[in-house]
Amino acid sequence: MDIQEIYRRAQAQADWLTEVRRALHRIPEEGFREFKTQALICRLLDEMGIPYRTERTWVIGEIAGAAPGAVVALRADMDALPLDEPEGLPFRSEHAGWMHACGHDAHMAVQLGAARLLASMRDAFSGTVRLLFQPAEETVGGAAPMVAAGAMRGVAAVYGLHVQPYMNVGRIDSRPGCLNASTDEVNLAIRGVAGHAARPEQCVDAIVCAAQMVSALQTVVSRGVSPLVPAVLTFGKIAGGTARNVVCDRVELSGTLRTADPAVRAAMKARIREVAQGVAAAFGARVDVDIVEGYCALMNDPGEVERAFRLGRALLGAENVAPRESPSMGGEDFSYFCAEAPGAFYHLGCAAEQPAAPLHSRDFRLDERCLPIGCAMQCALALDRLSEAVG
Ligand SMILES: [Zn+2]
Ligand SMILES: [Zn+2]
Repeated sequence: MDIQEIYRRAQAQADWLTEVRRALHRIPEEGFREFKTQALICRLLDEMGIPYRTERTWVIGEIAGAAPGAVVALRADMDALPLDEPEGLPFRSEHAGWMHACGHDAHMAVQLGAARLLASMRDAFSGTVRLLFQPAEETVGGAAPMVAAGAMRGVAAVYGLHVQPYMNVGRIDSRPGCLNASTDEVNLAIRGVAGHAARPEQCVDAIVCAAQMVSALQTVVSRGVSPLVPAVLTFGKIAGGTARNVVCDRVELSGTLRTADPAVRAAMKARIREVAQGVAAAFGARVDVDIVEGYCALMNDPGEVERAFRLGRALLGAENVAPRESPSMGGEDFSYFCAEAPGAFYHLGCAAEQPAAPLHSRDFRLDERCLPIGCAMQCALALDRLSEAVG
């Protein structure tokens, strides 16, 4: 079925999409505590006659076509952010201190809309569409535990999207290869020897050591990574010292490391350890280096991105489908799904006009005309991939 026809059907259910999105918007929840959200998704899947299973707060639905065939997965994330939504919207958050400020309410509505369309045309395709409703994208990550629990078993391709207010409704973008960086947490604890501020020769000053260490660690990127390769190391927190006249014996630094290439990621981690240990040794201090693995980089499959671009051009016109030049250094745990099967993740314009408030801001607003577009794209991607498996 041609994508314009799918879009016509998606638009015919625009009011329903809006209603679902607003219902979800009212009940924003923390990662792995998406209980009401989960219940709403289950109720809607029940109404559509789509079987599903749940574990923790995730939901995995399955729409079987007319005949056996490949399995294609669609993903929507479910969690919200700890922000107080300003007054104004008639469907404002009913959970004080929580807000769908990253648009995951829209992602779920799009996926439920795609499910509804696909369920209504299940006689027209072979194979299975698996619906992955994923918790905790903003915090510890729900994708990796879902993969570990078998969510991607047998999946031939996986598709996901994120609304983006830097583009107006009617535009999409993406890129083959890395779309989102890996995110690791870097924690350093420097230990010196405390003493009287007037007798530094008897002490090991952890503050002076930390100052040198922060400077030296800047070279991990500037002197260790090619200027043509995206990488960033930022220390956002430094803490140490108790009194003006006491030499400090403990400083803690914490930061984030982001890279677009697994080899660069490994090399940078090793270099951070070497530099930190080397600087500490030079001052007679000790340092504990703790690097906590975050999300892996999101690596889009070139063929699947081309499929998304082809369908996007047919839906929105070539001028509204933009290849991104560079990856985003923000993390996105869709990466774990597309590490299991070829996948495409793309951005869906959701602003009414520019400039628009960014994601993760209390002022973030979404133009709901993006919902049927996302719905048609996800539907068309699944059907296009499944039709390939038949031949
Ligand atoms: Zn977010
Ligand atoms: Zn998000």
